[in-house]
Amino acid sequence: MKSFRADYVFPINADPIKNGIVTVDDNGKIISIDNYMQPGTPVQQLSGIICPGFINTHCHLELSHLRGKTKQGTGLVDFIKDVQQYRNIDNGLITEAAIKADEDMYNNGIVAVGDISNNAVTIPIKTNSKIKYHTFIEVFSFLPERANEVFENALELQRQFKPLSSSITPHAPYSVSKELFKLIKTYSDGNLNLLSIHNQETEEENKFYRYKLGNFVDLYEHFGIDISYFKPQARNSIQSVLPLLSNRQNILFVHNTCTNLKDIYFVKRFDRHINWCFCPNANLYIESKLPKVDLFVDEGFNLTLGTDSLASNNELSILGEMRTLQHHFSSLSLPILLEWATLNGARFLGMDDELGSLEIGKTPGLNLITGLDGLKITPDTQVKRLI
Ligand SMILES: [Zn+2]
Repeated sequence: MKSFRADYVFPINADPIKNGIVTVDDNGKIISIDNYMQPGTPVQQLSGIICPGFINTHCHLELSHLRGKTKQGTGLVDFIKDVQQYRNIDNGLITEAAIKADEDMYNNGIVAVGDISNNAVTIPIKTNSKIKYHTFIEVFSFLPERANEVFENALELQRQFKPLSSSITPHAPYSVSKELFKLIKTYSDGNLNLLSIHNQETEEENKFYRYKLGNFVDLYEHFGIDISYFKPQARNSIQSVLPLLSNRQNILFVHNTCTNLKDIYFVKRFDRHINWCFCPNANLYIESKLPKVDLFVDEGFNLTLGTDSLASNNELSILGEMRTLQHHFSSLSLPILLEWATLNGARFLGMDDELGSLEIGKTPGLNLITGLDGLKITPDTQVKRLI
């Protein structure tokens, strides 16, 4: 057993404890959390705050080799072209970059990741990682006639991922046909199948759904894909695809950069289990724009954080995402951001029986956050993994 004492301990499920002491056993299981020392157990005195390990609910480990390869601030459609152009290289290089990214996340205090995969390349890394992964096997095709084939391929990929935790999920409203959405819905209605979907990362997505205009029309032309069957839906993308998602599963909408209040109210009225994930650094990287985060707060949703991939981020750090949010939204206090960074992510991934809060019996990992100004995250704020 060992104990850690810090200026504050943030259990997340309960109020912060001043000069709190957390005691863990050799497996990292929490034995006690209070102000009292366990007799005979050494106490390490630390300055800063202790919180549970971070949960990254949106990443693409298999894109780690694209760090620095894509142009910044050009918008999502050009970003997609860059990714398509550079993503297929030698598997050895892809693996090497992904291993490094997995280690970086571990060192950045991340204990669990919801990771998007389009192929099998990360299976050995996830199998051997000290981080807990849930893999979202992502499907896309906007051609209705390809829906069955694409879905069958996803089932096959899921077989390869076993016994790792995985589910089959749609990529984005602009890249998944109604037919493919329906196959995923049927599957999600009858199987445990956590869902995560890129949502309104650019205003172009709404333009495409409302009027069938804009860069996505050009993108399909660029790839030589005939989408003449697709008719404008006269409403934003999220309102068009929400009915196509299962009401039996937790759903994570990722990015939400161009989600407006009307969309949020539409979602609230709908019978679906919606969680929202913010990846602010990726949004600034790709679109030079941030979601209207304040609109989502106090609406009763579970809000989480993600790093997205190194194709659109310089680091895979949940503290980095918190820092950006606090910088742009002064109303977001550290306790709120820590909740998003830990317990909310664990809840969405269904890992909150083990992770996400400092509760007796859990093994959530312990992070030490230093360099705060009071409770404000500054450029000097750092995270160190204690266990
Ligand atoms: Zn993504």
